[in-house]
Amino acid sequence: MPRVITRKDHILRFEDFDLQPEILRALTDLGYTEPTPIQEGTMDALLRDKDMVGQAQTGSGKTAAFMLPILDRIDPDSKDLQALILCPTRELALQVADASRSFAKYLDNVNIVPVYGGAPIVEQITALNRGGQIVVGTPGRVLDLLRRGKMILSDCRMVVLDEADEMLSMGFIDDVRDILKRTPWGKQTALFSATMPDPIKKLAEEELHTPEFVKVASKEITVDTVEQRVAFAEGRDKLELLERFIQEMKPPTMIIFARTKIGTQKLADDLKRRGHKVRALHGDMGQGARDSVMIAFRGKRIPILVATDVASRGLDVSHVTHVVNYDLPDEPEVYVHRIGRTGRVGREGFAISFVANKEKPKLDAVERLLKRKIQRWGIDEPVQPLTPEQIAIAEEIEAAEESGEVDVLVVENENSQQGSSEPRVEGDAPKKRRRRGGRGRGKGNGGEGSGSGDAPVAVTAD
Ligand code: ADP
Ligand code: MG
Repeated sequence: MPRVITRKDHILRFEDFDLQPEILRALTDLGYTEPTPIQEGTMDALLRDKDMVGQAQTGSGKTAAFMLPILDRIDPDSKDLQALILCPTRELALQVADASRSFAKYLDNVNIVPVYGGAPIVEQITALNRGGQIVVGTPGRVLDLLRRGKMILSDCRMVVLDEADEMLSMGFIDDVRDILKRTPWGKQTALFSATMPDPIKKLAEEELHTPEFVKVASKEITVDTVEQRVAFAEGRDKLELLERFIQEMKPPTMIIFARTKIGTQKLADDLKRRGHKVRALHGDMGQGARDSVMIAFRGKRIPILVATDVASRGLDVSHVTHVVNYDLPDEPEVYVHRIGRTGRVGREGFAISFVANKEKPKLDAVERLLKRKIQRWGIDEPVQPLTPEQIAIAEEIEAAEESGEVDVLVVENENSQQGSSEPRVEGDAPKKRRRRGGRGRGKGNGGEGSGSGDAPVAVTAD
């Protein structure tokens, strides 16, 4: 059974690991104030020479998790190769070597040698001959050097398989096994990976000795900081529901997820016509247009983004306060990923899913994954007051609006009925979203859009 680390367990400091003061000093320089969960969960056992399987997402700090214990136990008086780290690519090998050097900068006589293909082997041999206690390399080049007798592993006491799942998917697993066969019996082996596919589990079972298994459960943590609701609506009713949601909740900044590119664009157009400041983000747009939308949203110059899952994948935004699932995704994991866009880093977020009858099985799948029922959103549910952070975001967006940074709202007439363009622009103006001014007045917004069918409605000022 893996030991699962959650943020609640997060109490240790680097000082608690009893690392050499030179290493602690380097960490201070780097601004590492406290260990990440994977570091906290694995370093103690690694320092005690235990074998280890560590599973955590990319960016969770796995490099320091294995490298700090290695550096702490390197014997600087011996020039023998004492630790070998295998990485899937040349870039990762260089990255790990660079990070290791920054951790080791106050340690005297500790050398780190990166070896990888696509570069002259002679220089790498020279570096190895000079004496590198730590080698970071790709499996192909390491095997090459071993076969040529240029790399000696007889004193290697620590081996790390970094990004093991990547090494598997790149076809290096046999090379890895071959290398492991050439390492001394009784060494320490650690395997780090973002995912644990079966062949990696098997490798760990066969090559590691009674390892500790530490897994960082990050996804559950993200979801815990998000208030979740569902609301049931069919087809076009979803648009009315969305309108009501916006009027009620006054979300300072929101991503609306839709399933298809066409649906995404259409929803964005519908909302724009109703007077909301909104942009679409989907794969049918050119790269330039996508970039400019991303930049504007990240820069808080657009309050509402309607996006597909794929287009928003690389979007790193920490200020999103509300997420709307206009459609439920096919995969329940995608739901978790979507709502993880809000409530980041301990901020509070709110996510609502609009569910049509035929989507109910998808909702069941999401609830099974979350292991709980999602509460229904009621229009009479008391409106949650915005948190101070959310108010600050709303104010920033309003400031951008006043300074003219926000794209001026243009009511597009392309899809509207002929001959109505002039009056429509006028008639639509009062429909602009009142972000906080209307707060608390809640319902009864002049029955905006109600009973309107599909056509955009020109509503008179309320
Ligand atoms: P992983 O290998 O899990 O993808 P990395 O080891 O590359 O993650 O670390 C990701 C980033 O986090 C790096 O920029 C690293 O410097 C930083 N980092 C790692 N541990 C800490 C820490 N304890 N405090 C602050 N930053 C850290
Ligand atoms: Mg890594």
